[in-house]
Amino acid sequence: MTFPTYEEAEPRAVEGSPFSNCADGEAWMDNNCRRCVHDAPTRRGEWDKGCPLVLIALLGQTPAEWLRKDGYRLGDQYTCLYYRNEDDGPGPQEPAPIPDPPGQLTLCPREPFERPARMFADTLPQEVAVHA
Ligand code: SF4
Repeated sequence: MTFPTYEEAEPRAVEGSPFSNCADGEAWMDNNCRRCVHDAPTRRGEWDKGCPLVLIALLGQTPAEWLRKDGYRLGDQYTCLYYRNEDDGPGPQEPAPIPDPPGQLTLCPREPFERPARMFADTLPQEVAVHA
C-alpha cells in the first residue's frame, strides 16, 4: 500500500467537503494531520511537499482514504488509512530474508525465489475490549 500522489487520489475522492465547518475540520486535523509524518513538511514551511489527501480535502472533496466512522465525535470523524505518527520512527522496512548461517550448505540458491513484498502493519498500540 504505497502512499498515493495527488493525481492518484483525486479521481477516487468523493465530491463534497469532508467537514461541515472550520471547527469540524480543524479538530480532525489537530488529531491527525498535524501529528502525521505525511504532512510534516508543511510544519517546516515546505508547502509544496504536504500531504495530497489534505490538499484534496482543502479543495472541497473527501478522500477515499478517509473512512467515515459511525456516530459523531468532534475530531474523530474519520480514520485515515495512511496516518502514521511522526514519532513512530521510520516505519516498516522492506522485509529482508534471514541470512544463511555461516558455513551452511544450501540445496538451491534463494535469489530466484525471493521477491519484494510488503505488509501493512499499524504501528500504534491497539486498544482491545475484554468481555468477561
Ligand atoms: S496521511 Fe492522512 S492523517 Fe496523514 S496528513 Fe495525510 S490525510 Fe492527514
